[in-house]
Amino acid sequence: MIDVVVVGGGPVGLYLAALLLQHGVSVRVLERRDAPNTHSRAIGIHPPSLEALDRIGVASGLVAKGVQIRRGVAIGGGVEVAGMSFHTVSRCYPFVLSIPQARTEAALERRVRELDGGSLMRGATVTGLHDDGAKVAVDVLTSDGESRIHAAFVMAADGVRSTVRQQLAIPLRRKDYPDSYVMGDFADGTAFGPDAALFLEPAGIVESFPLPGGVRRWVARTHRTGADTATARSLAGIVWERTGVAVDAGTNSMLSSFGVRTRLATRMIHGRIVLVGDAAHEISPIGGQGMNLGWLDAAGLAPLLLSLLAHADVERELQRFERQRLRAAAAAVRQSEINMLLGRPLPRALWLARNRLIGYAAGVPGISERVAARFTMHS
Ligand SMILES: Cc1cc2nc3c(=O)[nH]c(=O)nc-3n(C[C@H](O)[C@H](O)[C@H](O)COP(=O)(O)OP(=O)(O)OC[C@H]3O[C@@H](n4cnc5c(N)ncnc54)[C@H](O)[C@@H]3O)c2cc1C
Repeated sequence: MIDVVVVGGGPVGLYLAALLLQHGVSVRVLERRDAPNTHSRAIGIHPPSLEALDRIGVASGLVAKGVQIRRGVAIGGGVEVAGMSFHTVSRCYPFVLSIPQARTEAALERRVRELDGGSLMRGATVTGLHDDGAKVAVDVLTSDGESRIHAAFVMAADGVRSTVRQQLAIPLRRKDYPDSYVMGDFADGTAFGPDAALFLEPAGIVESFPLPGGVRRWVARTHRTGADTATARSLAGIVWERTGVAVDAGTNSMLSSFGVRTRLATRMIHGRIVLVGDAAHEISPIGGQGMNLGWLDAAGLAPLLLSLLAHADVERELQRFERQRLRAAAAAVRQSEINMLLGRPLPRALWLARNRLIGYAAGVPGISERVAARFTMHS
C-alpha cells in the first residue's frame, strides 16, 4: 500500500509530492496528461510561496531564471498615479517572481523525479475513489487498462473540474462575475524593465508584467462579447488605444481569453481524502493568487500528513488547517474582487476622482506598505 496518492500533477500536486517524498513517505502522483502542460497561465510567484518552494530546494533555481518584480506603477491618462515598492514585504524575497507556469512546473517535476524516479505516473486518470475508513482504493485508467491502487491517504490536486470533489459531492460556493479579459505575451518594447505597470484607464484596465527573455505579458479587461474572438492584433489595438504603448502583434507567443468566476469548496477534508489547490478553490486570475494559494495549502498540510502517517491524533489540528485555508481562500477572493473592481470601465469624472484618491492614498505613510503586503499575499 502507498502512503499518499496525489491526484493531479499540476503545480500543487507536484509541490506536495516533493514535500512528502523528502520525508521518506511513499507517494504516487497520478496525472491524466501524457506530457507536461505547455500553456502558461500563472506567472507570479509571491514571497510566501518562494519561502515554501525553498523547502524543497527549487526556489533559487526559479529565482535565477525569472524576473524579480520589485516595483509596480499605476498609470492613468499618461501620468503616474501611484508607485508601489515590494521592498518591505519580505526579507529574503522582497519581490514577486515572474516566470511562466510551465517552467515552474518543469522545476517541480524535476525535483519530484530526483526524489523518486517512479513516483509520477503520467497518462493515469483517476476515475473513482473508495474510502473504507482504514485506506482508500483509487481506480486508475491508463493505456494498459483499469487498475486499482491502495493508499493510506489521497490528496486531490486535480484542478478546477476536480473529479474527486465531484465524486465526494462536496458543495461549492459559487460566484460569477461580469468581467472578462484577454491576455497575451509579446516582445517587450517598453522602458518598464522589471517593473509591473497597471494602466487605470476609463475604458478598463490594462496590466503589463515582465517575463524572462525580453517578453511582456499584457492583460486587458474586455467586454464579454469580444473576448472569444480576440487576436494578437486586437489585443495590441486595445493596448495602443488605452495606453499609447505600441505592442508588436507579430511577436505574440501566447494568447488567451478568460471570464472570471469563484468556486469555493465548503470542505477540504473528507475522511482520508483532502482537496488542495484549485480543486478546493477557483479564484479569479486577476491578482495572481490561485497557484500560490494552493502551494500554501500543501505547505500547511504536509506536516499534518506526516503526523497522521505516524498514527498521531491530529484531528483538532486538521480542523484548524481546514478553517485557516478556507479563510485564506475567502481572503484571496476578496483581494481579487478589489483588483477586478479597479479594472472596470468608469465614466471620465469618476475615473479622475478614483485615480486621484489612489494617488493620495499611496502617499500616506503605511498605506502603500499595507497594500504591497496584500498584493504579495503577506497579510
Ligand atoms: C489565465 C490565468 C492566469 C493565471 N495567473 C495566475 C498567477 O499569475 N498566479 C497564480 O498564483 N495563479 C494564477 N492562475 C491560477 C493557476 O494557474 C492555478 O491556480 C494553478 O494552476 C492551480 O494548480 P493546481 O495544481 O491546483 O491545478 P491544475 O494546475 O489545474 O492541475 C491539476 C492537474 O490535475 C490533472 N487531473 C485532473 N483530473 C485528473 C484525474 N481525474 N486524474 C488524474 N489527473 C487529473 C490535470 O491534468 C492537471 O495537470 C491563473 C489562471 C489562469 C486561468
